[in-house]
Amino acid sequence: MILLYLVIFHFVLLVMAMTLKTLRFKSRQEAVDPVTDFVVDADAVARRLSSAVQCKTIGHADPQRLDLESFAEFHRFVQKAFPNVHEALQCEPVNEFSRLYTWSGSDPTLAPVILMAHIDVVPIAEGTEADWTHPPFSGDIADGFIWGRGSLDDKGSLMGTLEAVEALLATGHRPRRTVYLAFGHDEETRGSFGAARIAEILKSRGVRAEFILDEAGAITTGMIPGITAPVAMIGIAEKGYLTLELEVSLAGGHAAMPPKQTAIGILAQALVTLEKKPFPARFEGATKKMFDTVGPEMPFGMRFLFANNWLLRPLIQKALEGGDATRASLRTTTAVTVFRGGKIENVLPDKARAMINFRLLPGDTSDSAVDRVRRTIDDPRVSVAIGGNMKSEPSRVSDPDSPGYRAVERSVRQVFPDALVTPFLVQATTDTPHYSEISDTILRFFPARLAAADLPRIHGTDERIAVDNMVEVVRFYAQVIRNADEMG
Ligand SMILES: [Zn+2]
Repeated sequence: MILLYLVIFHFVLLVMAMTLKTLRFKSRQEAVDPVTDFVVDADAVARRLSSAVQCKTIGHADPQRLDLESFAEFHRFVQKAFPNVHEALQCEPVNEFSRLYTWSGSDPTLAPVILMAHIDVVPIAEGTEADWTHPPFSGDIADGFIWGRGSLDDKGSLMGTLEAVEALLATGHRPRRTVYLAFGHDEETRGSFGAARIAEILKSRGVRAEFILDEAGAITTGMIPGITAPVAMIGIAEKGYLTLELEVSLAGGHAAMPPKQTAIGILAQALVTLEKKPFPARFEGATKKMFDTVGPEMPFGMRFLFANNWLLRPLIQKALEGGDATRASLRTTTAVTVFRGGKIENVLPDKARAMINFRLLPGDTSDSAVDRVRRTIDDPRVSVAIGGNMKSEPSRVSDPDSPGYRAVERSVRQVFPDALVTPFLVQATTDTPHYSEISDTILRFFPARLAAADLPRIHGTDERIAVDNMVEVVRFYAQVIRNADEMG
């Protein structure tokens, strides 16, 4: 009986401690006054983004296939549209179509900041042209939106940055800290001619940036369970990218007297094994930091859960396993994307091949992933080799307490007072891996307002951005540049 009382007593104590922890799990949102002094001409901003969208700067993996005239046309347009920028900043063409702008600060002892964006856009998927409400390269301004490929990814960001600098120059602003604008022209096809080359140039000049800001995060609505407010998601880390090619080669022959397993069967078995044994889930790093930040904004039950993640981690992991996006935020993902084998119905296949695309969680590496895949398959008949057309290691995790993160967070709160701000893990890839040695604080965020239903617009049909949102984008970049000079 005494034992039972003891157990109950300890249980009550534990619940009290956990409740206390929940009550102490306070909002981390910085209270700042909105900034309203920065005036933006919405019509002019919309018109210029529209013109930018009309330049068909479509990326191609094969540089020979680029429509060079469209890129040249884009640069002629930018030169004309932003006279202040081209007078006050140094503008260097890099590999002809990328651009590095330097806005020299008045205090050369301060580390510079780098604002990145990319000029290229993805092509329109064949057969979907007619599905667009407005033709994909029309740049139509209608129903409060600027429509077209690149309006979100990534000309909205590129133009927003230039608009902010142009307007700041018009007010006589000169930064204390040097500001670089780094615009690559082949982000969608690995960035090896654009971002990689710009990063090399900066490195050769000994540039170490206080922080770097590139695309990827957005202001999302309805994407985090339990939160109805818009959430500005700032990417503090980015997953790595790896494709493996698996192959089984066997003697072919007639299908009448087959071996117990054909090349296809052996390979299929290996793939099933890999799908059945996914990489282990880890609630840590950028994903944990996100829930530490948004947790206090959630209803009590969820707040209780995340406030006590020291004890309830298994429950949290189980909950996050429920959706594809949250599941991917916990682990290195495994996606079998290509399978080839066999030619004729009554002939044994001499070869079967498959490709698997992995997105590597920070903490894993491409080497450790290859190793794990070999051990999991544990079948010498299956060869495993690195394939595909790109590979990148997972990024470091930038510190959300760093002055750079704080400056960007503050800028969001000043321009989007309705939004919460949180760090998060970027599942896709950006140009930033090329910059990994240039700064410890690499942030991935472009303040487009997106609901879940808008996500397919990126790289898909009916890409668009609201004119009002573009005004906020310009004001945001202006704030980032101003706040960069106020950093402690
Ligand atoms: Zn992009």
